[in-house]
Amino acid sequence: MSDRVLRGTRLGAVSYESDRHTEFAPRLQATYDCPEGHATVMPFAAEADVPPRWECRVCGAIALLRDGEQPEAKPTKHVRTHWDMLLERRSVAELEEVLAERLAVLHEYQGRVKAAAKSESRGKKSA
Ligand SMILES: [Zn+2]
Repeated sequence: MSDRVLRGTRLGAVSYESDRHTEFAPRLQATYDCPEGHATVMPFAAEADVPPRWECRVCGAIALLRDGEQPEAKPTKHVRTHWDMLLERRSVAELEEVLAERLAVLHEYQGRVKAAAKSESRGKKSA
């Protein structure tokens, strides 16, 4: 009768496998140094790809792997600037020409403003 009693166990909660005769996978310890000087040591499987950065356990900054290659800066996509787009439309010689034209217009305008100011001040003096 006793062999028919169902014993309840929580599924997945307990492992009946013993640790005896089990070999742990070889591990290595990676040390990460953060900019504040904290060292974070993480165990990794020997064959794992050890990431070049890890979050510092103390301050949360990005810590770099000690003795590791410094991670290369991510290749950033070249961003087309306004200057690049401008050079696609016009040559530098053309731009110089346009600049000279605009400067001439501005100088003429300034000349007119100065002349107007002069004649105005003259008008005040004479009045
Ligand atoms: Zn830190």
